[in-house]
Amino acid sequence: METQIFKVFSENDEAIDKTADILKSGGIVAIPTETVYGLAGNALDGNVTDKIYAAKGRPSDNPLIVHISDISQWRPLVKEIPENAYALADKYWPGPLTVILPKSEIVPDKVSGGLSTVAVRMPSDKIARAIIEKSGVPLAAPSANTSGKPSPTSAKYVIEDLMGKVDAIVDAGECSVGVESTVISLCETPPRLLRPGGITAEMLTDVLGEIVIDDAVFNKLADGKKAASPGMKYKHYSPDTQVIIVKGSFEDFKKFIEKNKTEKTAALCFEGEEKELSVMCVTYGKKNDPAGQAKNIFDALRRVDEIGAEKVFARFPETDGVGLAVFNRLVRAAAFNIIEV
Ligand code: AMP
Ligand code: MG
Repeated sequence: METQIFKVFSENDEAIDKTADILKSGGIVAIPTETVYGLAGNALDGNVTDKIYAAKGRPSDNPLIVHISDISQWRPLVKEIPENAYALADKYWPGPLTVILPKSEIVPDKVSGGLSTVAVRMPSDKIARAIIEKSGVPLAAPSANTSGKPSPTSAKYVIEDLMGKVDAIVDAGECSVGVESTVISLCETPPRLLRPGGITAEMLTDVLGEIVIDDAVFNKLADGKKAASPGMKYKHYSPDTQVIIVKGSFEDFKKFIEKNKTEKTAALCFEGEEKELSVMCVTYGKKNDPAGQAKNIFDALRRVDEIGAEKVFARFPETDGVGLAVFNRLVRAAAFNIIEV
């Protein structure tokens, strides 16, 4: 398949109309959002979403998030919108928050991965919003990477993974948040946080009161246990390089590296620390800046492969606020391999 590449600088560019035309005629296009690049297609057409699963190599039981540009597009997708859902939308939409509710008949089972619920989000990125609006339908848009790889935060990585497999790629530079949306299910009481992201657990509690953080956010799913969020059971965000998280002070991290390094060892550390380390280094933001870490983590995981390391020892991030999202992605990239020093 020939993949067109559109460089886009504003929501008024002509390429937005071309993109919308492709989407209207059943094509699939990688588009920028504030979280990560998404692979978009008409969410109401199961034949289109089949193409999305195929291009990504995504297992068909891992449901897609449906993206809307106006609140009026939400109601037809779900059975009903409870009060607490409106309260969340009021405060955090448009933005990096996905809300799960029981789905209506118009949402194909292929989109919900066979579940009776549907995940919906209204992105804040102006270009994403213009594309949804002009295409005239809600868009299913999982992260625009090959399934299992780190999510793409710039078009360069989308091109690496999806060139020749999609109709077009819209290049609008780097994503501002850098990790995928927070996913909250309102299908139970108290609501359940399934995936941490740019909207933090604390921000959700502000609106919802008590919430439960699903165990899969922190831990590997136990054998035989059903995942509340099917995506959680799959290998995720992995570079080819083996990632091992080393938990402890920077002094202890340094000592650990000195003791365990080979020529092919690298460190995934905070900015400034590379000066004090004697191995190849990739940085992922400043130590006390979780938002900066979120913006950099996926790019850093891709760069780890580019420098040709066999094994990378990673610094442990703080886990409050947006830090929980960073930890959640890193621990999956490391296949839950954490060494305490
Ligand atoms: P992605 O779009 O690649 O960022 O992945 C979407 C994430 O949302 C995956 O982890 C899915 O398992 C999760 N998800 C989407 N829809 C649902 C749903 N109806 N119920 C539970 N999790 C969902
Ligand atoms: Mg994904």
